[in-house]
Amino acid sequence: MTNKGFDTTNLHSDRSDHPEHGSLHKPIHTSIAFEYDDARDLAAVFQGKKSGYNYGRQQNPTVNALQNRINRMEQGLTTVAFSTGMAAIGSVLFSLLRQGDHLIASAFLFGNTNSLFNTFTNFGVEVSFVDATDADNVKAAVKSNTKLVFVETIANPVTQVADMERIGELCTQHKLIYIVDNTITTPWLFSPKTVGASLIINSLSKYFGGHGAALGGSVTDTGLYDWSDYPHLYDNYKTGSASQWGITQIKKKGLRDFGATLAPEAAHTLALGSETMSLRVERACRNAQALAEFCEQHPRVRKVNYPGLPSHSQHDRAAKLFSHFGALMSIELVDELDCFDFLNRLECVVSSSNLGDTRTLAIPVAHTIFFEMGAARRASMGIPDSMIRLAVGIEDIDDLLADFAQALG
Ligand SMILES: *Cc1c(COP(=O)(O)O)cnc(C)c1O
Repeated sequence: MTNKGFDTTNLHSDRSDHPEHGSLHKPIHTSIAFEYDDARDLAAVFQGKKSGYNYGRQQNPTVNALQNRINRMEQGLTTVAFSTGMAAIGSVLFSLLRQGDHLIASAFLFGNTNSLFNTFTNFGVEVSFVDATDADNVKAAVKSNTKLVFVETIANPVTQVADMERIGELCTQHKLIYIVDNTITTPWLFSPKTVGASLIINSLSKYFGGHGAALGGSVTDTGLYDWSDYPHLYDNYKTGSASQWGITQIKKKGLRDFGATLAPEAAHTLALGSETMSLRVERACRNAQALAEFCEQHPRVRKVNYPGLPSHSQHDRAAKLFSHFGALMSIELVDELDCFDFLNRLECVVSSSNLGDTRTLAIPVAHTIFFEMGAARRASMGIPDSMIRLAVGIEDIDDLLADFAQALG
């Protein structure tokens, strides 16, 4: 099925790979082992001379169907799924970096990604955190040992939008691996391939599945990076087209050696959720826009961070890059209002840490997800103690607005 729209392609993804028995969904295969009538075929699969399944840690038919689906959404060359978004990010670093390498990351990162990068400094990888809303800051940080640049599309929780086009040009010029975490925008709002991304990360746990009922992550190789010159690839994986070398190593190291494997049951749940992605995300984006406009006008809200507001520093960039402005925002209340009291007064907004659920979720950022990094780093990231992150869901907008109105008092 070629040249069809985003939804048509996604809805018919499993079918176009002809699942067994004419099933419309790829069935859940739970077997971790696979039998071969001819032992020579088993050997050929192990040696990479034939495609096939050897052991569930490395490949599974249900997971493969999900990978194909993500790959179509991201218009990638190859996609590998992992047990979580963090497993996907960790596997990329673990596979591609060595002691003495340097990476440049946006200073405005998902808290656990920030923590993971700091952990890698203990293994001799240098990390520079820079303000990636301006590509000049990335440019100034490039060194002779720089291997990759990592940014998020819309940063959590202050919603900065990275200077992705210019960073893409810079990475091409310096032959750097360019990694874009597309979790907050989803492939429906934004295609990182259009800004030159080499690898695309998606946490499937968020908007992709959309139900908050299964964890997963993925890495998509867009085919734009030339792996033939990359120094840390093992000769074993340098067979066939060079376009596959990088993702093959990520798969071998991340799944086979590290074991960050997605379970087939989760793959099925995530695939089902993804079929309504465009409907859910569009509705959530519309709700977020209305709620952001409401909060910006409200006297008891000091500040609203949402890329869909003209007051946002990267509003024009977001309008150019994304089809909608996302469903993530943060607000700061006026001093007299305690953020915990406010959260407790909300009725249809749930106090919870997740995002990308169908329900609207809220969390006091400094006291929870960004607590561990300490006050100094929070201040440098523009996160005051009163900040509340809102992951807007698909409820009826009138109910959300009424709930905020009563809770703000
Ligand atoms: C949640 C999230 C991750 C990590 O994903 P998990 O599936 O929770 O491990 C990575 N990046 C971003 C932007 C996220 O929001």
